[in-house]
Amino acid sequence: MTTNTKTVVCDVISPLDGRLITTIPYHSAEDLNALVKHAKIASNAWEQTTIKNRAQVFFKYRKLLDNNRNELMELIRTENGKTEGEAMAEVDKAIEITEFACSLPQLTTGDILEVSRGVYCEDHYVPLGVVACIAPFNFPVMVPHWTIPIALMLGNAMIFKPSEVVPLSMIRCAELLKEAGLPDGVFQLAHGKQEMVEAICDHPDISAVSFVGSTKVAEIVYKRASQSLKRVLALGGAKNHLIVLPDANPEMTAANVAASMTGCAGQRCMAASVLVAVGDVQHIIDAVVEESKTMCPGSNLGAVISADAKLRIERYITQAESAGATILLDGRNTIVQGAENGTYVGPTVIDNVTPEMAIAKEEVFGPVLSIIRCETAEEAIAIQNANPYGNGASVYTSSGEMARRFASELTAGMLGVNIGVPVPREPFAFGGIKGSKFGVGDITGKSSIHFWTEKRKITTKWNASDWTDWMS
Ligand code: NAD
Repeated sequence: MTTNTKTVVCDVISPLDGRLITTIPYHSAEDLNALVKHAKIASNAWEQTTIKNRAQVFFKYRKLLDNNRNELMELIRTENGKTEGEAMAEVDKAIEITEFACSLPQLTTGDILEVSRGVYCEDHYVPLGVVACIAPFNFPVMVPHWTIPIALMLGNAMIFKPSEVVPLSMIRCAELLKEAGLPDGVFQLAHGKQEMVEAICDHPDISAVSFVGSTKVAEIVYKRASQSLKRVLALGGAKNHLIVLPDANPEMTAANVAASMTGCAGQRCMAASVLVAVGDVQHIIDAVVEESKTMCPGSNLGAVISADAKLRIERYITQAESAGATILLDGRNTIVQGAENGTYVGPTVIDNVTPEMAIAKEEVFGPVLSIIRCETAEEAIAIQNANPYGNGASVYTSSGEMARRFASELTAGMLGVNIGVPVPREPFAFGGIKGSKFGVGDITGKSSIHFWTEKRKITTKWNASDWTDWMS
């Protein structure tokens, strides 16, 4: 970050090769006031537009995302460090959520019932006005689309704060929203970091805040925005456990586990972090190591976000080694030829990790898999249950009975059976529990309708002679 006489600007650096892509000026708290003022005016007119007409904007937007997929993929890749396939998958997911948002006219019809003769009760979903979203670095396009199409389709105006590390993809998406016909002021970007987040939390004219990021900041945002009486949904970090039983299919499990821990360079809130090996599963562990060796940094394994992130991840590996764990595959000191300033960590598998080690307890957020060994299903469940996070967890088994047991006893919001990244697809909702989420409901799917709207309850009677009951 650099400061000139007037503005603070943030350097946007590509993790692929360490090159400075551009600098982005931060907005000040006064700038935020102006953005919110503009959004308030815009939200009045946008709210008056029918939801069917709002859907027309998002049908166009969906098409624009599709038409511009290569450009968006390149932007994501350059600012975040992902592989082409991973970056393209983000665009696909953004399209899928936009399609869900386009179906909202069908899902928000509201109830109506004749409660006494001639007396009708009905529900309307009413937008909140100006809302705000704060995003992390790891999915520059997908995570923003968890909220943008849904909240806007429901008639809100939005101030969106992208991660200061990856602002470029959202700058392009804002242009596409405008091109799709979204009126001025309905969607605006606010660039910045902590100061901007605090200003958003405190702003009296912002009604609701959604946050996605680390648990530490999620907690701060949840408390601060609630303090100023906002509706808040704050998604935090993760520590996802994959439990492998001896009857698991070895090839499928190995391929799945390796893909889950190395996908997006391990920087997914649903990435495999701990493999809980139950009983004799040595043949599966050997296969996981072999499969992980096929992940090649700079080719099918992307970069981690920054030099600081690389240092942090490597520090965790070194600490685990010093604490007595066995490094089966070591991704430290990885340098990619031709991209020497890129920030890469190779696939890393660590055996004989114990639940007390830092690497077993804390979020590492890199392509690192810790193996904790135990003898029974009870122990495996207890290990997973003891961790403070609750985003995802999976079991690998060919027993339906075991699958059911784990699915009901693991404490995570998103559970998988023989699935390494158990992320629900639309219209099913995304969301963790425990330290991975503060607030009620989920950020996508049907429950997001309740987060982004108020329910207005209207009772009507038109005929004076209609019979009414005790409550009239
Ligand atoms: P982060 O918490 O550092 O930053 C998230 C946002 O908060 C950014 O916009 C940043 O500018 C802002 N911020 C940072 N520090 C702040 C502070 N002290 N006060 C106020 N605002 C602050 O997260 P990150 O490093 O960008 O993203 C990685 C984290 O996000 C991981 O922990 C990952 O698990 C989590 N994540 C969770 C989910 C989920 O669904 N639960 C999804 C994606 C990412």
